[in-house]
Amino acid sequence: MVSNGTLTAKSTRSGHTRWTFEVVEPMATYLASVMIGRYRSSAQQPVVAGGPAPVPITLHFPSNLAHNVGVDFARLGEMVSVFSTTFGPYPFPGYSVVVTDDVLEIPLEAHGLAVFGRNHVDGNHGSDRLIAHELAHQWFGNSLTSAAWRDIWLQEGFACYAEWIWGEHAGGRTAEQSAMYHRGRLEAQPQDLLVGDPGPHNMFDDRVYKRGALALHAVRRSLGDEVFFDTLRAWTRANRHGLVSTDAFVEFVSIHTGSGEIRRIIDRWIYRTALPKL
Ligand SMILES: [Zn+2]
Repeated sequence: MVSNGTLTAKSTRSGHTRWTFEVVEPMATYLASVMIGRYRSSAQQPVVAGGPAPVPITLHFPSNLAHNVGVDFARLGEMVSVFSTTFGPYPFPGYSVVVTDDVLEIPLEAHGLAVFGRNHVDGNHGSDRLIAHELAHQWFGNSLTSAAWRDIWLQEGFACYAEWIWGEHAGGRTAEQSAMYHRGRLEAQPQDLLVGDPGPHNMFDDRVYKRGALALHAVRRSLGDEVFFDTLRAWTRANRHGLVSTDAFVEFVSIHTGSGEIRRIIDRWIYRTALPKL
């Protein structure tokens, strides 16, 4: 069995086993998860990631997927390092990945862990983008949680942007190239979605993800890399294990950078339906 937090006790009596997990940070209810199955576990080398404390990583998977899981998650520690440097220290005591023996439509983040289906491990790094995405939710979504669902782009847009950052680090498209590519694709789609309040039916529309990431890229272009990433790290530090909103983000960035430009950018990318130019 795998769940959020740390397994602190396990005892068997009269054929029943009690597992006790402890989560010490505040946890959003939708991030609670229990995975029951016959899992093999392997601990990865703890990685020193942007802070004094190493981040222990544990993989849980069915035995017959051991090879593919070993290949596909081999760079997870490096990913934790890159994101810790980029977004600030990893916010939880550890990170676990569960690969279920089921086919899942999409992987899913949970508090301190992520859940993938057997179809997501091909032994050929076919899901690197998704591995990066779910890991990034530990910062954006799990540590900093949107107080209202309308601000879901603060989670999905940021996690999507993390995919682009990892892609660039891994030698693929640069974030700039990803931004241009996805803006081009968005241009061909209907521009009738308000990213800043997509409504319950369109909360997980791909346009929320891509346009949210593009909004961040527009902010990055406006501030320059040094100020942008310094501001992102300050944002995750100030709101660690807390609730956030788009208004709070805009206000934070304005104060931190001393520039009101953020308000104009977010207004164009998040609160209007027409697709802005980069
Ligand atoms: Zn996501």
